[in-house]
Amino acid sequence: MEFIKAKTILTKVGYGHSWYGIDYNMNLYRGCMYGCIYCDSRSKCYHIDNFDVVRGKENALFILEQELQKKSKGVIGIGSMSDTYNPLESKYEQTRGALKLIAKYGFGVSIDTKSDLILRDIDLLKEICSKNNVIIKITITTPNDELSSMIEPNVCVSSKRFQAIKVLADSGIFVGIMLNPVLPFITDKEEDIKKIVELASQMGAKFIHTYMGMTLRDNQRDYYFDKLDKYFMGLREKYIHYYGNRYECSVVDYKRLYKVFTSECEKYGILYHMDDIIRAYKKAYTVNEQITLF
Ligand code: SF4
Repeated sequence: MEFIKAKTILTKVGYGHSWYGIDYNMNLYRGCMYGCIYCDSRSKCYHIDNFDVVRGKENALFILEQELQKKSKGVIGIGSMSDTYNPLESKYEQTRGALKLIAKYGFGVSIDTKSDLILRDIDLLKEICSKNNVIIKITITTPNDELSSMIEPNVCVSSKRFQAIKVLADSGIFVGIMLNPVLPFITDKEEDIKKIVELASQMGAKFIHTYMGMTLRDNQRDYYFDKLDKYFMGLREKYIHYYGNRYECSVVDYKRLYKVFTSECEKYGILYHMDDIIRAYKKAYTVNEQITLF
């Protein structure tokens, strides 16, 4: 793996309290090899050349430890621009190393991933849980394995991700689903949305969050449209007709589908409002803290 220089690892975020209640953001890798056809992180505004090649950040753990010693405690988000459980993580263990430091200094963590490699680190997630807040978001965009291997070609299929949720939930970790993006005319079938909620409930997921749409811009749109031409003939024209050059592309039947989604979540007792999700996962720590103090 190639390494690139990094001056800092942790970034303080301003949006955190409206987005999973995170205080810092961190990407230990640059680029991602999972090849999701819709990936927003390949947009040129992020200036990541050869996005499909994963590079590590040099001395990432050394820099991180120095930062953790100086900063006030909070929840660190990992995986916004690159899946931190990429295949190279098995060998280099940058994420595992970072979790050890997060546990050591008593910070919390919020991880986004599509990979079941996260199960390797359950021991550390439990340790972090005992001192601070932990939330795991597994991205699942379709209940159909054949479709997931087409739109997310280099990562484990949806059924394996559901299994990972079960293992995490059974271990007492607060885990749920990022149902983002929802691809218009591809993953926006009512029966698929219902199936995801049902499986989430069976596996012990606490929440599902979705904005019921996708984003498209510049070179990322071109990449996505090329994949549509390859796998979904005729859809490029449909996207152009409905969305033109729009960045935010909600599913066409948004209101009805979102209502179906929320009704299903309520039926199974699954959280879907961001505020409720934040309150629920932070409550676990607050209660533990109070018990300890008492
Ligand atoms: S896993 Fe995330 S960062 Fe990686 S290609 Fe897919 S959407 Fe992009």
